[in-house]
Amino acid sequence: MPTALVQGDDRLLPDDLPELPLIDYELMLAHVYAGTFGTTIDQNVDCPDCSKKFSVAFYLGTWLSSIRDAVKPDRERTFDGAPYVLPTQSILKSVKRDQRVLARRLWQGGTDLHPEKITEFEAEVARACPILADDIESPCPRCGEIVRKRFVLRNHLASRLRTWLHRLLADIHVLASCYHWSAADILDLPRQTRVALVDTIQVQRGRARSSR
Ligand SMILES: [Zn+2]
Repeated sequence: MPTALVQGDDRLLPDDLPELPLIDYELMLAHVYAGTFGTTIDQNVDCPDCSKKFSVAFYLGTWLSSIRDAVKPDRERTFDGAPYVLPTQSILKSVKRDQRVLARRLWQGGTDLHPEKITEFEAEVARACPILADDIESPCPRCGEIVRKRFVLRNHLASRLRTWLHRLLADIHVLASCYHWSAADILDLPRQTRVALVDTIQVQRGRARSSR
């Protein structure tokens, strides 16, 4: 993932990822998504009232710029008169996801935060460092009921990558069984060539089946 985003001497290394604030990591996932699958996201939704299935599209770019404005990365982050740092994967791991210990680790005020302030502090951190997720709302085209669906970018990306990998493995299987090429040779083909060859093989196999 880091190589996909930053080239040259300043590029991030895989070991740097756990040290990134979670919001930066999430925004990198969004860039990887946009670069791989484009900026339109289609979500399939089922209406709970009339069971109608329909699709809702939204644009990653608009959504991301509103999130970037909301988190304002250059602003100094303070809470209750003291600075705080944003959570990273390695901080979360070190506190074993215990919320109280996490608050103590993030807030740099010297003493412990007052227990009454912890919930308020957690809300502040969640605002400054959100997980990229949204509740999609859309009226059902059949009955008009508002249908809601939770969208989590990292889950959606993982699901798209799994589907993409499945398709790639199926392509490798088809080409290897037809031409007896190695997986490495097949992966060296330009994507369009690979897809065109697989389509041709499938069409020929379909014709052979129907002429039997
Ligand atoms: Zn409906």
